[in-house]
Amino acid sequence: MNKFQSFGWEINPNLSDSKTSFPSLNKDIKTDWLIIGGGLTGLSALNQLKKQNVSDTITMVDASKIGQGSSSRNSGFLVDSTLNNGATTISSIREYKEKYALNLAGISELKAIVDENRINCDWSANGKYHAAANKSEFFKLKKFYNLLMKIGISCEEFHQDELSNLLGTNFYKYAVKTNGGILLNPQKLCLRLVPKICKGIDVYENTKIEKFDIDQGTSAYTNEGFKIQAKKIIVAINSWMPELKIKQDSSMPLILTSSITRPLTLKERLVLGNPKPWGVLSAKPTGATLRYTNDYRIMIRNTSEPHFEHNFNYKKCIEKHKKGLLRRFPQFPDIDIENSWSGFISVSRNGKPVFGNLDEKIFFAGAYNGGGLGLSVLFGAAMIDSALKIKNSRLNLVASFPQANRLPPFPKIAALLRLKLDQIFGSNEY
Ligand SMILES: Cc1cc2nc3c(=O)[nH]c(=O)nc-3n(C[C@H](O)[C@H](O)[C@H](O)COP(=O)(O)OP(=O)(O)OC[C@H]3O[C@@H](n4cnc5c(N)ncnc54)[C@H](O)[C@@H]3O)c2cc1C
Repeated sequence: MNKFQSFGWEINPNLSDSKTSFPSLNKDIKTDWLIIGGGLTGLSALNQLKKQNVSDTITMVDASKIGQGSSSRNSGFLVDSTLNNGATTISSIREYKEKYALNLAGISELKAIVDENRINCDWSANGKYHAAANKSEFFKLKKFYNLLMKIGISCEEFHQDELSNLLGTNFYKYAVKTNGGILLNPQKLCLRLVPKICKGIDVYENTKIEKFDIDQGTSAYTNEGFKIQAKKIIVAINSWMPELKIKQDSSMPLILTSSITRPLTLKERLVLGNPKPWGVLSAKPTGATLRYTNDYRIMIRNTSEPHFEHNFNYKKCIEKHKKGLLRRFPQFPDIDIENSWSGFISVSRNGKPVFGNLDEKIFFAGAYNGGGLGLSVLFGAAMIDSALKIKNSRLNLVASFPQANRLPPFPKIAALLRLKLDQIFGSNEY
């Protein structure tokens, strides 16, 4: 498992007081509950467990830093409707409505945590644009628009001139805006949530679980050789499930890399026409994601690649970000990039997640296919419902949702080919 040092959206020193840190585990321990992974899935599971007022002991461990994985490195789109649902396309209205309902449940689960803990994470109900620069992508957007209209999901169409006014770039020629999505700052969310949710709990960072033993009592073993004996284990490691041999034929990690500029000056903002904050997702599954943030920064993510050991070229990704920015904002040929970072998503062949348990002792969830900001919180809580046998609509919704199917043979090669082809035939969208 790679650890990327660059820390994501915020280099604002005002947030440094909330960078909580925890020790690493240096002895064998016993606990009632062990939560592995301190991203939003794990934090939501922990939050749910605390809400049940169980008197059990709870321990959380993370291979790296709590809350500083993909959960704080994502692009901050809390989506209701999706155009590119992982590896698949929209195949039926029924299936689409199921996914929409799941996403809405994810949004309300995250909203509840944000409100209960009074987290300021720049939560903005601004909606999102699904946009294309290339005519060959328009049919997909048109189909999406018709589908949303048919189902009754609020959306609008925009063409180049209108988009130029709304976004400050005339790069995009056609877009469908859905009004239901939320935009937020994921790093503010996680940095501020961690100290509140982890309060009073035994938490260990830089403590990687390398294997389980389910036959002789339920135990997990760390990379330092320490044993954690637990009655129940919650596995919340998303992209890394295959490393722990959980549904290893169902999902694989992809690396996404993003960059963010410094805040634009007032003069620069006026050059753009002083647009309101916005978020754009590409009509092309592997195309660029962009945000114009509340504090006037531009974020771009236009690279994704399978995770092969030792071949990751961070500098090349940043060059692609610069080119992507220049294509959209030729007015600013030398705009400073303030920070860049990478993170992992977990993808499955059919774009569906993974949720289940081993012998009612080890519970797992993940493979959110690039859309896990809300789903992680929903699935994290549902793991606790499942482990405590609490029957509710949340568990029903999650447990009855279709699951990830088997990956094709040589999945990384297949993914690499797919991404390369997308880049060759859709280079305008990067
Ligand atoms: C660049 C980028 C952009 C994205 N944009 C969006 C977006 O706009 N909207 C959206 O909905 N989703 C987006 N995503 C996806 C979203 O961030 C994830 O789906 C979500 O954060 C998953 O949360 P998680 O808690 O399951 O995983 P993570 O946040 O990755 O947390 C898992 C934790 O498990 C730990 N871990 C791993 N293995 C072990 C082990 N063996 N032992 C102990 N700990 C371990 C890791 O260190 C990590 O802290 C994006 C992801 C990336 C990388």
